Formats: sequence, C-alpha cells, structure tokens
Amino acid sequence: MFSSLAERLSKSLRNIINKGRLTEDNIKDTIREVRKALLEADVTLSVVKKFIINVKKKAIGHEINKSFTPGQEFIKIVRNELILSMGDQDNDLNLSTQPPAIILIIGLQGAGKTTTVAKIAKWIQNKYKKKILITSTDVYRAAAIKQLEILSSQININFYLSNINQKPINITKEAIQHAKLKFYDILLIDTAGRLHIDEKMMNEIQEIQNFSNPIETLLVVDSMMGQDAINMATNFNKYLSISGIILTKTDSDSRSGIALSMRYITGKSIKFIGTGEKITNLEIFHPERMADKILG
Ligand code: GDP
Repeated sequence: MFSSLAERLSKSLRNIINKGRLTEDNIKDTIREVRKALLEADVTLSVVKKFIINVKKKAIGHEINKSFTPGQEFIKIVRNELILSMGDQDNDLNLSTQPPAIILIIGLQGAGKTTTVAKIAKWIQNKYKKKILITSTDVYRAAAIKQLEILSSQININFYLSNINQKPINITKEAIQHAKLKFYDILLIDTAGRLHIDEKMMNEIQEIQNFSNPIETLLVVDSMMGQDAINMATNFNKYLSISGIILTKTDSDSRSGIALSMRYITGKSIKFIGTGEKITNLEIFHPERMADKILG
C-alpha cells in the first residue's frame, strides 16, 4: 500500500521546517515525490511535466506562513494547482438553446456509453423536469439499441426506436423531426461505440454532429482505460467538437490521474463522473473532490 501523496509530501519536506521559504533546492525531493505519485496515479508523462513546471513556478520563493509547516504549505499549492488544472468550477450541462436541445454521446464500446445516456436522461429529468427523448444510432449491434430501449423504459423516458437497417444519419434526422413534432425539450443521441477509432466511425459521427448541431457533445471515457485513453481522447477531439467529458467507473478506479490527463489533453471540462452501475450513480464532477482523491 502506497502512503498518500499528502503524507509523502509532508515527509519529504520535514527537513526544511523553519527555513521560512520554499526554494528550488529545498523542494527538489518533494517535486520528485509529486512526479512519482502522479505517474503512479496514471497521469500521462507530458501532463506530469507541465504540472510540475506550474507547481514549481508557484512554490519557489513562496513564503511559509508562520501557522503552517512547509509540508502543509506545499500541499496547498499542489492541491490548488490540481483544482485549477481540472477546471476550477463545477460544470453543469448547457441546455440553453431552442428546443429540442440535442446532446450527443460519443465514446468507445465498453466505456459505459449506453448506461451513461440513461443516467444523464434521469439526471436531467430529476433536476430540470424536462421532456426528454432518447435514441440510438448504433446500428452495428442490435443489442445496443435494445439495451437502450430497455433502460429508457426502466426510467420512464421515451425512446425513439431505430433499427439496424437504417443509416445513423437517417435515424438522427427522423428522431429530430419526431422530437420537434412532439415538443420534446431534450433529445439524447447515442452513437456507435467501436473497439478502436477508425476513419469510418469518425466520419459517421461527424455527419451526425454537423447535421444535428448539438448543444453538448459529451465524450464518455472509461477511467480504468489507463494510458490508451490519451490517444483515444486526442483523436475524438481532433475529429469532433467536444463540449465536455464524462469519466465512468470512477468507483472502481483507485488511480484518479486520468481526470487530470483528460483535461490537459482535450482542454475540455469534465462534466460528470459515473460512480457505479446503477442509473442513479452519476455525479457532477467536483475538481476539489478529485484533487483530494489524488492527494489521498
Ligand atoms: P457501452 O458499450 O459503452 O455502451 O457500455 P455499457 O453502457 O454497456 O457499459 C459497459 C459496462 O460498464 C456495463 O457492465 C455497465 O454496467 C458498466 N458501467 C458503466 N458505467 C459504470 C460506472 O460508472 N461504474 C461501474 N462500476 N460500472 C459502470
């Protein structure tokens, strides 16, 4: 069992107690601890490097307040930098548009996309009491459409039924038409998840995005995915205009570094985290809570 980052930082700074000021020299070991701990938390190397530069800038020359130890002071700097790097505020959904507000959900297969569509629908229904419609454009797996249809009925939200013989773009057009006719406030569109990113998949989602002009395009990322998530997010971000990220399976992820990496790599806010398999296991992302989880 690793000791927490906070403990490790305090320990490595014990020798500079009472020296009054953080210097390049006296924080050397501590910086090494931060680097090690972030890598162990699965933060990608390029992100760790940038993060360390920022922490150093803020720490060096920093006067130690008499009521704090250097350890406490340094942890405060690291914590603030973590919060700032992951987004300094909580991020709700943007739904302010002419109805139906379209929310497009994208991501790789197995990331928890389908479950997350239902979770978001339920979350919006609970919070905003809106009239919501869900549809699936995943024509590659009949089971995917069925799965979302069942989930929708479990949470009492209407589902616009598509079938695997349709083109995803045509399902999109029909579902939007239907949503307009029936005065839905929100239309959630699930897209096909593949095991790997390929040109065809990206073109297909691009076409859906261009046509539907979603107010939110949310990338669902499995927080257990480790370093592969970096390439995946970079690619999605290159082809599509992403408005936010949802990190799933944070309940089973003991290494929280992906939140930091995702934000640095895509520049987009993390809006929600999935905290379990149940429909209600979705929470707004709070950067300060994630910072505390990383600090341990
Ligand atoms: P999709 O292929 O991306 O549509 O993924 P699914 O929605 O089918 O989810 C894949 C698996 O991940 C299912 O067993 C879900 O119950 C599970 N899952 C999704 N989100 C979470 C989460 O936040 N926590 C946990 N523990 N499991 C999740």
